[in-house]
Amino acid sequence: MSFFKDALSMFKKRDLLFLESYKESEDVYTFLFEKENDLSWIAGQHGLFTITHKKVKNKTRPFTVAAAPAENVVRITMRISENPSDFKKAMLELKQGMKINMTGPIGSFSLKDNSPSLLIAGGIGITPFRSILKQIESEGNGIGKPIHLLYLDSNKSFIFKDELDAIANNTSISVTYLDLRDDLNQEIDLFTTLNKDDGKYFIAGPKSMVKSVSDFLKSKHIPKKNIKKDAFYGY
Ligand SMILES: Cc1cc2nc3c(=O)[nH]c(=O)nc-3n(C[C@H](O)[C@H](O)[C@H](O)COP(=O)(O)OP(=O)(O)OC[C@H]3O[C@@H](n4cnc5c(N)ncnc54)[C@H](O)[C@@H]3O)c2cc1C
Repeated sequence: MSFFKDALSMFKKRDLLFLESYKESEDVYTFLFEKENDLSWIAGQHGLFTITHKKVKNKTRPFTVAAAPAENVVRITMRISENPSDFKKAMLELKQGMKINMTGPIGSFSLKDNSPSLLIAGGIGITPFRSILKQIESEGNGIGKPIHLLYLDSNKSFIFKDELDAIANNTSISVTYLDLRDDLNQEIDLFTTLNKDDGKYFIAGPKSMVKSVSDFLKSKHIPKKNIKKDAFYGY
């Protein structure tokens, strides 16, 4: 998405009707909202979500839209730990019929061409890749796509695993689940050796993880222009 389109989206605000929420794992929750007909996004983009049903300090947070546009629902999936922020407490209090405000969609974290692509997710950083892979699956053009997802979670708590496995079964997209950083580096090495200068790298997750993977890629002489980052500030 161009800078100007992004800037325009920043002024698009809308209320979204809350439908339901559920637990994905011990500390990860999904929230579903109604998708109005005139709302769309590019798989991998995020929105700015604002609590409106009660007064909270710091009422706005960015979240990836974890649904594919084709799924016809707005999904956000977030980590909520034992002692959450007021924003996340308010999310857990949402009841059917309440609303949340969304600005956007914004961001340019999306697959643009058919280059061999290595998607690298750290924990909750799987959200943009769920959207991207679901969209490819729904368009029915996943056969022949040279895409490999590396999904790192040190607690082996792989949310969306069933959906990702189904995508891997129905397309040529492959998924590798990892819990050790050394194993991730080895997988990255394998991909860089096979794809030399053609490979594109997409990294999403907590800011520190994104930085260290990006530094690792640069140490392997991967050009900066081939590395796309979606750093989740706040973790
Ligand atoms: C483009 C973009 C997309 C994003 N998409 C998502 C998404 O899809 N899902 C998602 O969950 N988040 C996403 N985030 C991050 C999100 O916006 C919040 O910043 C994050 O969830 C933290 O939320 P919180 O401030 O409500 O704090 P909480 O998560 O409730 O944490 C409470 C406090 O504990 C601290 N804390 C929490 N976890 C850690 C940790 N691991 N290490 C150190 N301190 C910690 C925080 O600083 C915070 O002050 C995204 C961010 C960006 C920029």
